[in-house]
Amino acid sequence: MTTLLGTKLNGRYRLDARIGAGGMSTVYRALDETLERRVAIKLMNTEVVSDSDQLERFRREARAVAQLSHPNIVGVIDAGEDEGRPYIVFECVEGETLKERIRRQGRLPIPEAVAYAIEIVRALGAAHARHIVHRDVKPQNVLIDEEGSAKVTDFGIARTLEEDGLTADGRVLGTTDYVSPEQALGQPVTGQSDLYSLGVVLYEMLTGEVPFRGESQVAVAMKHVRDAMPDVQAKRPEVSAALAKVIDTATAKRVADRYADDAELIADLE
Ligand code: ADP
Ligand code: MG
Repeated sequence: MTTLLGTKLNGRYRLDARIGAGGMSTVYRALDETLERRVAIKLMNTEVVSDSDQLERFRREARAVAQLSHPNIVGVIDAGEDEGRPYIVFECVEGETLKERIRRQGRLPIPEAVAYAIEIVRALGAAHARHIVHRDVKPQNVLIDEEGSAKVTDFGIARTLEEDGLTADGRVLGTTDYVSPEQALGQPVTGQSDLYSLGVVLYEMLTGEVPFRGESQVAVAMKHVRDAMPDVQAKRPEVSAALAKVIDTATAKRVADRYADDAELIADLE
């Protein structure tokens, strides 16, 4: 893999460093030699190029994000193929992921946590307005740029609500720490499922911990289905009752008890 460092994709993008790796793809910091600017490139792993489902999913990620232009969504610049391997070129976000920020700092100052939550919901709102559900909202997929703005990325298993044929269930979820009950049960996933996950992210930003732990990913997923969310104020008493209620409403087990949409959630956060 390291042999790719220093090589150029399509004679244009020089791969400089590996910054992320998953089962399906690897993310590189790269230099666009035509425009002389830094970019981030997600390159599909060779092992999965022959898997037509994965290939379609990868192409769909590029198309889904390309539809979205929003200050809180990591933008797509270009997409292509090099020697049969598809890649997506993203704007490069210098900084760290929200997960790294929480690991480094522990629980975040309350106004900062609320500000990030608002930015993430705005990003999700832009996606939902186009009927795109992210399906994998977690702090690992939120980048914090140098100005301190949150940017959502990794629409890798996003789906438009109309698409039914291609399910995301084939992809092994990296973590079930943020999974909504309906997603854990394999039931239909909507924008409100993303809002559930955001509620869990908000809980983690405020307490420094995810709400449920278990022996396995499945055990954690089942806790999302069955166990009540722990009380955020018990962990952090200075969280206001109003903010605690936002988490409770966003993470209600029954979809009907949750915020109806992004606007409702943003109104309460503000
Ligand atoms: P995966 O499908 O492997 O989870 P992601 O799109 O989430 O792919 O990217 C993996 C990691 O690569 C991120 O957690 C982040 O650390 C880094 N990364 C991804 N995109 C960018 C970007 N545009 N700018 C900077 N770093 C990025
Ligand atoms: Mg990711």
